[in-house]
Amino acid sequence: MFLTEREKSQELDFHEVLERRTELGEGERKRLKMLRQGFHGEQIYDRLWDEVGHEQLLIFRDLWLKIENATLQIDALIVGEDRLIVNEIKNYSGMYQYENGSWSVNGFQISEDPLAQASRTAGKLIRLKYGSSHPFEIDRKVTFINPHFNLTIDSDENEKHIVTRSMMKYYMRDIAQQHAGPGAAALSNTIRSCIIDDPMTPPEVEAGRIRTGLYCGRCGSFGLSLEHFRTRCTRCGHSETIEYQTVQAITDFAILFPGKSITKQNIRWITGGEVSVRRMERYLNKYCTLARRGKHSAYTIDTSNLKELLKIKGYDSKYEKDKKILAD
Ligand SMILES: [Zn+2]
Repeated sequence: MFLTEREKSQELDFHEVLERRTELGEGERKRLKMLRQGFHGEQIYDRLWDEVGHEQLLIFRDLWLKIENATLQIDALIVGEDRLIVNEIKNYSGMYQYENGSWSVNGFQISEDPLAQASRTAGKLIRLKYGSSHPFEIDRKVTFINPHFNLTIDSDENEKHIVTRSMMKYYMRDIAQQHAGPGAAALSNTIRSCIIDDPMTPPEVEAGRIRTGLYCGRCGSFGLSLEHFRTRCTRCGHSETIEYQTVQAITDFAILFPGKSITKQNIRWITGGEVSVRRMERYLNKYCTLARRGKHSAYTIDTSNLKELLKIKGYDSKYEKDKKILAD
């Protein structure tokens, strides 16, 4: 079973909101493409596990750990009775070559070295052994889940640590043979005690670049006409509640400016003044927690995941024609 959710990284969230609210620079566009591709690969990996079945296993996804002074990120960590298996997930496509310790794609050398990455992660995990009364080994594999990935590799030793798409399900079925008993439960508790929040802070963005206002959730257009409770897109006709749109603006703000306070002034700014002050205050009180009272009241939110926030704060779906918004 999966022990943790897989969520988009703060950096991916940041670039996706940025894309909606400004013209991306060349570097930002490339970064967003790479982050999206990576996240998509992780989702495929999870789906393969769902197809193979993982009820008897303990699998952590998308982990950030702090072990002694080392911080490490693991795409997937499978906890066995006497074994930790690190899976680094890569969604590469193209003709890759690994020779003399360096990677190249279509003849061009690349700086990323997934084998070294997985090896470093496994090396840091070893430190857990010193604090654990339960002996365990560490395995590592770089899983290339894209069917259009082709690799030429010069060493058998390194090849041992690679699983390509055509072998993925065999590999997973093999792991699924194992049964996670008390040893695995103890190991997973040790892992749990080392979990930290995603420590990566997204880049800073100039407020002047940000387009303020409400936008259509279907086509992204800022051309909306406001009705009593709803907005209607003048481009595609899609309709959403003002409540939904305001909460979206709040999470957009939190994602773009994690270092700034959520205040009435700031939310009024990002909504482009399109939501009345009274209504905005009502939504701030419903979806946020008041952290500082007074003239400059500031709020916090439990999560910047829009769907999650709507769900936990009881967004009333009867206003929502598009039920997909609150699905899952
Ligand atoms: Zn639209």
